[in-house]
Amino acid sequence: MMQDFPGLQGITYLDSAASSQTPNQVLAKMDHYYQHDRANVHRGAYALSSRATDAYEEARAKVAQFLHTEPEQCIFTRGTTDALNLLARTLPGQRVALTTMEHHSNLVPWQQRGGELIWIEIDEDGTLNQDSLDRALEQKPDILTITWVSNVLGTINPIAEIAQRCRAQGTLLVVDAAQGVPHLPTNVHELGCHFLVFSGHKMLGPTGIGVLWGEREQLEKLPPYQYGGSMVGLVTKEKTTFAELPQRLEAGTPPIAEAIGLGAAIDYLQARGMASIRQHEKDLTGYALQRFKEVPGLRIAGPQDPEKQGGVISFQLGKVHPHDVATVLDRRNVCVRAGHHCCQPLMRRLTDLWTPGARAPIALIRSSFYLYNQREDVDHLVQALDEARKVFDRG
Ligand code: PMP
Repeated sequence: MMQDFPGLQGITYLDSAASSQTPNQVLAKMDHYYQHDRANVHRGAYALSSRATDAYEEARAKVAQFLHTEPEQCIFTRGTTDALNLLARTLPGQRVALTTMEHHSNLVPWQQRGGELIWIEIDEDGTLNQDSLDRALEQKPDILTITWVSNVLGTINPIAEIAQRCRAQGTLLVVDAAQGVPHLPTNVHELGCHFLVFSGHKMLGPTGIGVLWGEREQLEKLPPYQYGGSMVGLVTKEKTTFAELPQRLEAGTPPIAEAIGLGAAIDYLQARGMASIRQHEKDLTGYALQRFKEVPGLRIAGPQDPEKQGGVISFQLGKVHPHDVATVLDRRNVCVRAGHHCCQPLMRRLTDLWTPGARAPIALIRSSFYLYNQREDVDHLVQALDEARKVFDRG
């Protein structure tokens, strides 16, 4: 399998939560479009354009099948951030509940639209605080928006359970599945949410493509987010009628090659099997948690339980700044992310838990796994961490 990924040669890539690598099969599919089917979609009356349209719509059908839903309910966006902005701009309601572990993408768009934010706190083990969740739901927010899997803690949130409670009281549930769909088998009916969003680049696909899935009834209610070509019916100088879903929410020329690439990525993931990918990541997470115990001074944030988390582990190494650790790891070609991981309120919360009274928020080193990682990658990381520790102990 490693030979499928040109980007993995010679490195220990442990940053798939930021962006995954891309297999040759996906690159070939995109190349094929550019070399043989290159035309715009939903426009031309010639065979080439029909081929492009077919390839684009075939990709949508693959997404739909992957999520166990219908193609019209899968809107192509530029990514998770774009999809969340779409929802924050178009959904009605004044009161939005969200958690302290949200990525800035699932926080700033809601904050900037105005209205009231109701915060759901997290416990020291990186899971949702039950009382805080109960209190938030009791306030009957119009919308509850939550990440399926935390990009920092790895925590897998109980979406199906939350969805039942939201539905019982008329709260719309939005799920940020940027770290979920790439790693866990996804069935939108079992999850029970009203909307779900994710990005192609974290699941072996190209950058610049993502998906907004919604219940048909909810999508029908959304007004257009952007206006322009492709999303219209009849246009006069005075007024415009709009196209049906999904086109109504896809103004302008869409990311055609990127959608096709995402379709190919889904083929690749399905050939391996999502249940098997989850199992593989569970194994690697368990192995890493075990090996991390050998590293003196390593402190982990999050559940520390492979059953409760995805393949993401964030930690600190003694008092060494995470950026310094990452620099030493880079010398060993070990790629990890260091910093606040676009989750500043979460970093504030962890600071209050770990170093009460400290003014500067903590930062963390994050290692994240995907289907192409092996136990040897964890071994390289542990070796490099040991080296980093020695470098800074000496210093
Ligand atoms: N939400 C989560 C949980 C994420 O991990 C990310 C990517 N780091 C995003 C949202 C934003 O995704 P994108 O940058 O692809 O729009």
